[in-house]
Amino acid sequence: MAGFTPIVGNESTRARLWRAAADGRLHHCYLFEGPEGVGKAVTALRFACALNCETVPVDGSLREPCGTCATCRQFAAGTHPDLVRVVPDPGRATRVITAEQARGIIAGLSLQRHSARRRVVIVDPADAFTEEAANALLKTLEEPPEGTQFILVTARPAALLTTVRSRSQRVRFGPVPRAELATWLVARGLGAELADASLGSPGAALRLAEGEAAERAARLDSLLASVGKPLHTVFSFTEAAGKKGDDADAGAAQVIDALEVVLRDVACVAAGRSERVRADHPALGLWAQALWPGGVARLSAAVAEARERLRLNVNGRTVLDALLASVNLELSQVRR
Ligand SMILES: [Zn+2]
Repeated sequence: MAGFTPIVGNESTRARLWRAAADGRLHHCYLFEGPEGVGKAVTALRFACALNCETVPVDGSLREPCGTCATCRQFAAGTHPDLVRVVPDPGRATRVITAEQARGIIAGLSLQRHSARRRVVIVDPADAFTEEAANALLKTLEEPPEGTQFILVTARPAALLTTVRSRSQRVRFGPVPRAELATWLVARGLGAELADASLGSPGAALRLAEGEAAERAARLDSLLASVGKPLHTVFSFTEAAGKKGDDADAGAAQVIDALEVVLRDVACVAAGRSERVRADHPALGLWAQALWPGGVARLSAAVAEARERLRLNVNGRTVLDALLASVNLELSQVRR
């Protein structure tokens, strides 16, 4: 079984935390502060695992949690009974952690620990505490029950009561350096250029990538909806594709990529494999019937040729029209 994937960025910050744990000099309440999406919450959960992992000795060890023992898995999944995650009350319109929730935490902490070496309370975001909630918790934050670790997470430390801040040890997280984030993204099969767009926030980069994935899926859907229809429908699709963005040839290249994905999916459908990109699309079955196997081979060659023509600066619209017309021809031959 695979262990945890490494966290990107803020390495020295994490090293200091792990060192403190190894040396037995943990502060009982850490305040993880820094911009959104730079790994504060991920680190809090990973730290909870590190404090409790069955394979990490109690003292003197700087090892990462294994990610595979039952304790690691339960903490990482948020299901361990000694992990208390406090989030804003979902029943409220505004994002607040109420005094009632605070009293609930205190009552919970008065019970015996279940099995973990350290019970970990993660409050995220800690700036959601109402003043009353924060005041109710002050004594507990100052002197939590033995074996209890508080981690408060916030992107807006100034919004916390001074009394809460003063009872915590501040741990500052910063943006992830561009090169480091780019390497991390590429290792996940994502574009390095997201590192710039996300301003050093891996969380923001992942959200941007999701947006791009949604865009790709939409492009695929409109391709499947247009091709195989009368040629004027196909040509208004290629016209629209050419207009997207300021670079018509880039638009054409994206449609060619989408067609390649469809052909790969068709091959998967024909082979009965499930790892398709748009497994649920109703048109795929029809395409598979019409194109497998000869049509897929011919169209794959046509895709390669279209890419070559684009490279040779043939007009993107012209390339697309020709390519999709040949897809239409392949699809129509079966219907006869
Ligand atoms: Zn473990």
